[in-house]
Amino acid sequence: MASLYAVPVEQLKGVGPKRAEQFGRLGVFTVGQLINYYPRTYENWSVITDIADVPDGATVCIRATVGSAFSSSFTRSGKTIFKTAVYDDSGGAELIFFNNRYITSMLAYGHTYLFYGKASHTFDGVSMISPSFSKVSDGVSLQPIYNLTAGLNNNYLIRCVRTALQMLPEQINDPLPEDVRKRFGLCGLKFALENIHFPKDPEALAQARKRLVAEELLVLNLGLRQLKLHKRSENKNIIKKDYSSEFGKLLPFSMTNAQKRAIADCVGDVMNPGLTLNRLVQGDVGSGKTAVAASLCYTFIKNGWQCAFMAPTEILAEQHYNSLKEIFKNTDIEIALLKGSLKAKEKTEVREKLAAGEIDLVIGTHALITDKTEFSDLALVVTDEQHRFGVEQRAKLLSKGNNPHLLVMSATPIPRTLGLIIFGDLDISVIDELPPGRQEIDTLLIDSSKRDRALGFIRSEVSRGRQAYIVCPLVEEGDVELASAEEYAAELMLNHFSDIAVGILHGRMKPAEKEAVMRDFSRNKVKILVATTVIEVGIDVPNATIMMIENAERFGLSQLHQLRGRVGRGSEKSWCILVSDSTTENSAERLKTMCTTRDGFKIADADLKLRGPGDFFGSRQHGLPQLSVSSLADTENLELSQKMTDYIINDSEGMRDDRYRGLSAEITRLFKSTGDETLN
Ligand code: ADP
Ligand code: MG
Repeated sequence: MASLYAVPVEQLKGVGPKRAEQFGRLGVFTVGQLINYYPRTYENWSVITDIADVPDGATVCIRATVGSAFSSSFTRSGKTIFKTAVYDDSGGAELIFFNNRYITSMLAYGHTYLFYGKASHTFDGVSMISPSFSKVSDGVSLQPIYNLTAGLNNNYLIRCVRTALQMLPEQINDPLPEDVRKRFGLCGLKFALENIHFPKDPEALAQARKRLVAEELLVLNLGLRQLKLHKRSENKNIIKKDYSSEFGKLLPFSMTNAQKRAIADCVGDVMNPGLTLNRLVQGDVGSGKTAVAASLCYTFIKNGWQCAFMAPTEILAEQHYNSLKEIFKNTDIEIALLKGSLKAKEKTEVREKLAAGEIDLVIGTHALITDKTEFSDLALVVTDEQHRFGVEQRAKLLSKGNNPHLLVMSATPIPRTLGLIIFGDLDISVIDELPPGRQEIDTLLIDSSKRDRALGFIRSEVSRGRQAYIVCPLVEEGDVELASAEEYAAELMLNHFSDIAVGILHGRMKPAEKEAVMRDFSRNKVKILVATTVIEVGIDVPNATIMMIENAERFGLSQLHQLRGRVGRGSEKSWCILVSDSTTENSAERLKTMCTTRDGFKIADADLKLRGPGDFFGSRQHGLPQLSVSSLADTENLELSQKMTDYIINDSEGMRDDRYRGLSAEITRLFKSTGDETLN
């Protein structure tokens, strides 16, 4: 298999430079990548309908013989129409193809094919427009359907994949050693590849899927564990003294036990001279992660080191800057904010001071590590909201300065099974306790007939001095978002809140515009903030007490949980209003979960159960390397891959055994996209 990744897709029969370019748009450059380009779904071609029984408008598969030559004519718009008659034992039908001059050579007179598509009854009988087809001798029952791009149709892809599969050698090197496959009940690689594309039957497809997903997750797991071992290597940024309790005196509150535990975990790591801190602190929204990070920074700075604190957005960076400045106001610690919107001169000044060691703590976006910033004594990097801070960046950090310690903070509770994968390269501390005195958040589910009442309620809260968020309907990315968020806000301002200051926040705004709106909201100049999900992460405005979310069923539970976490942060009672007209059982169940619990881990578990992990692996949010089949994963796959990982790591010879050479090569390949040299 490995060698086919070196064979350009152009070497396939019938693929020229133009085709190759089209394949490139699908991310397919080599024959190996084509073989790994798995179908999006399958059509069931195993149920054959007699032409005489075809219902009008139904999608069916017929088995018919070509009974006439093709006729061609033109539409008024200049398209060419090709028609032919086919028949089976029960009757005849007409097939119509548009603008496909190759069709006449693809379907031969007197030969029998399977035709799949939508059939309709016209005055002269049954007809099908542009059906998919396949030779009967190909023995298809489940027909693969691929994601396509302009110029490449499904039938063409099928032919190319068939040719590519034929290039597989008889004996293919399976990265999974036979004993491992047997132990975990997985089929061989060749069978899996053939059947993920052209399944013999549903059973074979299930086996193929299981095996490919298991392998991919295993490779991912093993790679992350290797990364973890690497990061555990010796660290020269030594911490001699723990200043945590001295830091505690800077705060107006005392730390919760959970916060203290998380700090102790981190300090324990960094005071061990052989160890590099490489830890995830996972804590629900409002659990006080900032104070934990600040405490660790304090200990580092007091030991003479520099720290960098990274946030995913400029708004959050600024917010952290303000709260850290407040915490450290009575100390001699030098803090700076480094953000994209600073003037070039200001940036240069901050950079120079960092390089000279005059700044102890710098706060900024992730650009901090990717750009040319140099430090004199950087020993700790804190990153907030890990979701957007992927393996790639974590790996990049290794090369910055002299191997700084890393503290990752996440407010996204993740079920254990998933967490083991996503954070496979990190140690984990959980803050499972909220600071005392937190108000309940009442969560209500309403349909849109009650929206006006909800808006009235928002109005009355605002008149009591409170503030509110309204999350507008979720729409596709791109320009539409802008138009619709603004339209939605305009409607509210016009018809409901004409006398109230309403602000608007969406992803398409310039950073400076966003910042201005957020600043106005946090200073209570704007009372109602209409926003897209950009407010999801980390924003802290304790005076906001209502979160209303339109089209709540379109959001993932964890996302709703994040949004809800924006309220209930102060001393006033808060509400979360979910608006949904969806009546499907699944969404009702999901939204009910939101109303009954505020425990992020329970919610994450429910989300995983209801939606499966596929959603997660299907998106690029996670910051993992690009995966190809894991979007098909289910919880069982997750558990299986964990067991396999443990088995291989505990295997007496471990990855050093020659049997695992193929697997090691796959790990290198998967992580190559992350640019992580340490895995080579
Ligand atoms: P998150 O974990 O969501 O990042 P923050 O660090 O923003 O939470 O903390 C939320 C709020 O709780 C802040 O206003 C912070 O000052 C406050 N806070 C944090 N820890 C405590 C504590 N132990 N007792 C009281 N308030 C706390
Ligand atoms: Mg936070």
